[in-house]
Amino acid sequence: MPINLDTVNKLYGLNLTSFEMEKWLESVAEKKEHITTSEDVVVSKVGRDLYNKFFRGYTRKQWGLDPSELDASVTARVPTRSNRDDRYFADTFQAMPKHGYTRMFEKMLASPNIKVMLNTDYREVADLLPWNHMVYSGPIDAFFNFKHGKLPYRSLEFKHVTLPQEQFQAVGTVNYPNDYGYTRISEFKHITGQQHRSTSIVYEYPKAEGDPYYPVPRKENAELYRRYEAEAEQPTSTTTWTRSWARPWLHSSASRSVRCSASRKTRH
Ligand SMILES: Cc1cc2nc3c(=O)[nH]c(=O)nc-3n(C[C@H](O)[C@H](O)[C@H](O)COP(=O)(O)OP(=O)(O)OC[C@H]3O[C@@H](n4cnc5c(N)ncnc54)[C@H](O)[C@@H]3O)c2cc1C
Repeated sequence: MPINLDTVNKLYGLNLTSFEMEKWLESVAEKKEHITTSEDVVVSKVGRDLYNKFFRGYTRKQWGLDPSELDASVTARVPTRSNRDDRYFADTFQAMPKHGYTRMFEKMLASPNIKVMLNTDYREVADLLPWNHMVYSGPIDAFFNFKHGKLPYRSLEFKHVTLPQEQFQAVGTVNYPNDYGYTRISEFKHITGQQHRSTSIVYEYPKAEGDPYYPVPRKENAELYRRYEAEAEQPTSTTTWTRSWARPWLHSSASRSVRCSASRKTRH
């Protein structure tokens, strides 16, 4: 991913230029008057065959739902390119911390202004510690004790494997849209640049239960989210850092790189 000029040329044995690919996409795209579901987004851009090969199975695995049952935002964020750029994100600057994320966070947390308490629900300490303003970064429905109902999330199980070989796959992440129970395999050394005679990979198995990773973007869920959001916007001394919980519910073109939204609310 994403689908680009090389994808189309290799898959269909063609030799199109960028300009020709745009024409080709127009010829296979299905015209839709209204774009409401994830299926509409894709078939109106790349046609039925690419949709079936790349999106349908993957989406069903990832979300446990057919793309026709999911909000347009899910597949709208996946780019289609008529050039050879095969990066998922097209940001000009993309980087890794020089010594990795672990060192970066260790240095940040070494600040005398920061104290870390692991395995502690904020409710356990909120009355014990002095504070003027609280920033809450967890799920918004949990903050309100699920008073309007539970927001549905999709979760993942990660299967980590270390192999006695230098390289497992040619690139950082390979997606499996149609086969196997996992959606993708990532090999981290492509991303970190690590040199080692062994390699570590991770398989991602989507599942319904577990840590809340991806809000399920459907109209009824967005409506439920808005009820929580309305309460969170009451002025008070707590900030809910609703970030990824908020965005997919709210915007039809949810972006992975911009996922923060803050709102204030009363401490109860
Ligand atoms: C599989 C996967 C891959 C991703 N890949 C990318 C990527 O490549 N690039 C990218 O930019 N983003 C990626 N993301 C998204 C990114 O991980 C999130 O946007 C980011 O982690 C959000 O940070 P956060 O601090 O807002 O929330 P979180 O990282 O979820 O942190 C919230 C914290 O609040 C804690 N918490 C919750 N409730 C309570 C409570 N009651 N008391 C105390 N603490 C509590 C939780 O334990 C957690 O530590 C990915 C996400 C997933 C799931």
